[in-house]
Amino acid sequence: MTSAGRFAPSPSGELHIGNLRTAMLAWLFARSTGRAFLLRVEDLDRARAGAEAEQLRDLAAIGVTWDGDVVRQTARGPLYAEAITRLTRAGLTYECFCTRREIQEAASAPHAPQGAYPGTCRNLDRAELEFKRSIRPAALRLRAGVAEFTVTDVLHGQFTGVVDDFVLRRNDGVTAYNLAVVVDDAEQGIDQVVRGDDLLPSTPRQAYLASLLNIPIPEYAHVPLVVNHDGVRLAKRDGAVTLADLAKTGVAAGEVRDRLLASVGLPGGTLGQALPAFRPGALPREPWVWTPKAATTP
Ligand SMILES: [Zn+2]
Repeated sequence: MTSAGRFAPSPSGELHIGNLRTAMLAWLFARSTGRAFLLRVEDLDRARAGAEAEQLRDLAAIGVTWDGDVVRQTARGPLYAEAITRLTRAGLTYECFCTRREIQEAASAPHAPQGAYPGTCRNLDRAELEFKRSIRPAALRLRAGVAEFTVTDVLHGQFTGVVDDFVLRRNDGVTAYNLAVVVDDAEQGIDQVVRGDDLLPSTPRQAYLASLLNIPIPEYAHVPLVVNHDGVRLAKRDGAVTLADLAKTGVAAGEVRDRLLASVGLPGGTLGQALPAFRPGALPREPWVWTPKAATTP
């Protein structure tokens, strides 16, 4: 089994500065620990034609290189189905017919943990099940045996979060992100997961699912996001935040790369040149504020 890190973008549009910074950090974490670095396109949902090619081009432009072929989730349905079958045979799944609205109303009950599925369909009897099947297609949920789970993160230390009966397969047949990511990381030999800290809250669910599937839990490092001057997560509305838009304002990819390196306290140059100075423990713990104008100021 290889030892590897990864970057796993959704091809929904061009990568922005925040995505590129996370990719660069994932590369630095992997390469500084002698790991391979893999690229996985998470295209089960929200894929836009042409976006993948743009994303690969932009990653290469700032020096984020990857090993082997790019893996796409849409080509991996059988792997996800196999994992779901294993869980179902172990009695660890059930069908859920709730609408979004029904879940919101039930989840607002005072005893329910915030954001957790309230378990409405957990114990339907045969007649209820058959009636509900005749009305709408079912999603498949995990029958979780715990209410919370603790993970260890390189930057956050011990983190305990909610584990509920989360969705494994949506009612439109699409594999849910939490299942796909766990199956993919294991199958690809990924034992180090570096990604934005907006994903930290869902990590206990994924680690718990890995434990049910007898999959080793990877090392996690959830890195701070990039924000605009209002402290809001960077987005397209913040102006020139993609390499293509920045190039139009006279900022070349190499300059963007150097600013990204500087934002984590590393010298400019190629990523390989910056690598020896990379210290995970010295990474800033605060979000990085992107100020577009500064890129054109000497
Ligand atoms: Zn339900």
